[in-house]
Amino acid sequence: MPVGGGYTLAVVRILVSNDDGYHSEGIHVLADALETLGEVWVVAPDRENSAVSHALTLHRPLRLTRLSERRYAVDGTPTDCVTLGICQVMKDNPPDLVVSGINFGANMGDDVHYSGTVSAAFEAAIMGIPAIAVSQVLGEHFSFVPAGRVARHLAALVLKRGLPKGTLLNVNVPPRPPKGLRFTRLGKRRYTEGVVEDTDPRGRVCYWIGGGDPVWEPLPGSDFVAVAEGYTSVTPLQLDMTHEGLLASLLQDAASWDLPA
Ligand code: MN
Repeated sequence: MPVGGGYTLAVVRILVSNDDGYHSEGIHVLADALETLGEVWVVAPDRENSAVSHALTLHRPLRLTRLSERRYAVDGTPTDCVTLGICQVMKDNPPDLVVSGINFGANMGDDVHYSGTVSAAFEAAIMGIPAIAVSQVLGEHFSFVPAGRVARHLAALVLKRGLPKGTLLNVNVPPRPPKGLRFTRLGKRRYTEGVVEDTDPRGRVCYWIGGGDPVWEPLPGSDFVAVAEGYTSVTPLQLDMTHEGLLASLLQDAASWDLPA
């Protein structure tokens, strides 16, 4: 503390969440990696919540369990966790940064719309707090350790430089230690087998969504291409999904869309 100043240096506060649940390896690697930057608070789902997107629990009460100092589990979604983290656990002094992950598996291209990992970061963006989502692309002999290093490096830069309001960084780390970093756009995935029909043990027809391996279009500059070439992809995303070009052309042609009087 500076002599006679009567104040303490503000400690950086980072909220960490995920969608794989509190017990996943990725969130522990992430929390440990960020400890060198400031005070890390973890508020995470008490079980796996992958692909729940931006779901918010409104029709039952939520339980917040304190596991240890600055470590909490919630019986809810990633969005519930970030909301409780900012508005309850850290309400006296909100976080400077929210980091979500490290997800077990990629969150690239169209998949960001299903991702609980990315939605946790979007919830922070809604609340005006800079956010980063970090995902580990799976492959033989992968380790979360390089992704932890990448997360700490990017978190330090975002804490220093900030991000524009309503934006976040979506980070995907390749299975082998990354050759470097590339700024990218969301790629395009082709869904090969959308729905698989099956019969359950009682003879009733049932369906599985999401069968088949993902096939990616090799779009230049996309997250998928960067990761396929061994680089970490960093895609800036925005909360405001308004399509400016379409809005402009609709406004120009508004009369022809209106109901006849
Ligand atoms: Mn997940």
